[in-house]
Amino acid sequence: MDKKIIIVGAGIVGVTLAWYLTRYSKANVILLDQSIAGHGATKSSFAWLNVSYNRPDFYQNLRLKALDEWHALDDATQGKLNISWNGALSWHDTNEQTESFIQSHVEQQFPVEPLTTKEITHKEPKLLNYPDIAAFVKEERSVDQLHVIKILLEEACQNGLTYLPNTNVVQLLKNDKNITGVLTDQEELYADQVILSAGVNNTDLLKPLDIDLPLFPSPCILLHLNHPNSQEFIHRIISTPEMEVRAFHDHQVRVAEDYIDDTVENSPEVIAQNALQTIQNNFAWSEQLTLDSYSVGIRPMPKDEMPIIGKIGDYSGLYLMAMHAGIVLSPLICRLAMNEILHDKVEQDLEPYRLSRFGN
Ligand SMILES: Cc1cc2nc3c(=O)[nH]c(=O)nc-3n(C[C@H](O)[C@H](O)[C@H](O)COP(=O)(O)OP(=O)(O)OC[C@H]3O[C@@H](n4cnc5c(N)ncnc54)[C@H](O)[C@@H]3O)c2cc1C
Repeated sequence: MDKKIIIVGAGIVGVTLAWYLTRYSKANVILLDQSIAGHGATKSSFAWLNVSYNRPDFYQNLRLKALDEWHALDDATQGKLNISWNGALSWHDTNEQTESFIQSHVEQQFPVEPLTTKEITHKEPKLLNYPDIAAFVKEERSVDQLHVIKILLEEACQNGLTYLPNTNVVQLLKNDKNITGVLTDQEELYADQVILSAGVNNTDLLKPLDIDLPLFPSPCILLHLNHPNSQEFIHRIISTPEMEVRAFHDHQVRVAEDYIDDTVENSPEVIAQNALQTIQNNFAWSEQLTLDSYSVGIRPMPKDEMPIIGKIGDYSGLYLMAMHAGIVLSPLICRLAMNEILHDKVEQDLEPYRLSRFGN
């Protein structure tokens, strides 16, 4: 009999996993969300597909592999994901810091290229303040994550997925150490496997099992600015100590900003206005920029910022997927997780990311 699998949470992680499971198996898959797909942290993501630098080697390598997996997913969906392939440009506070960043990563065979001022000017002609040197990573890209979710969800539904939005999972159902399903606000649903991809809410769902998940809610701000021709205004992702910015479709510029605290002087509105000013100070052609919207997304942030993936303790029928940088990591981690969920095998690339590393 085909396996019955319930996925709790339809963010980028839950939707991508549903896509893999329905494409590559005959499993009977149900995807539940208390809201609608993509409207958790995913909705407010900057959605930069990037390598993470200055982290443990195994994690940097996972992120590199994750970039490749986006290629594979793009091929499998016939280019419908509309990935933007323009690369990312970054620099640090001083030339020395940027040089040492480039040097250390080139030594590790990372695809980081140094650019001179002339080359930076060529890549980003509207920038006003150029550093002497910048790091360029051709392989880094960006997506419209809600578009990706739409495409993957449509295909998964065509392949037999049952998608139930507006369905809140209240608790996990269990028989001793075996998780047997979920209790929603509407009914009990039973399955062979329950997958938790509920973002920050994974913590609450695991509490009744006496599992204290080392994951905290980490707010971060996303802004959209309007520009009549954003693709000419900015060509690549630009990340500097002052700003993280990129074009978004033809008429918007997307900016990510740190959330500082909940004081009035650091409110998202104030941060959004300051960010607009920063972009205007740094770019020509920016007088037509206006603030369209801003939102605060709550990132599910594991304590050491690396994913938590796999079975939980001695519970059977339960599999957890909690991660930061869920946009870049989802295709790779979901493909590997699919193999573990369907075939009960151990994927070596996931071994460093078990909950057990925290001593739980
Ligand atoms: C401003 C900002 C910038 C970011 N930039 C990047 C970036 O450039 N690159 C990158 O890779 N990542 C980035 N991230 C992080 C990335 O967006 C997250 O890691 C990712 O979206 C997490 O996805 P998720 O599916 O795990 O969680 P979520 O998107 O939060 O999805 C969880 C889903 O579970 C549902 N849910 C929760 N509880 C229940 C329940 N009890 N029953 C049913 N459903 C439930 C929710 O409704 C939600 O839809 C950024 C995040 C923010 C906020």
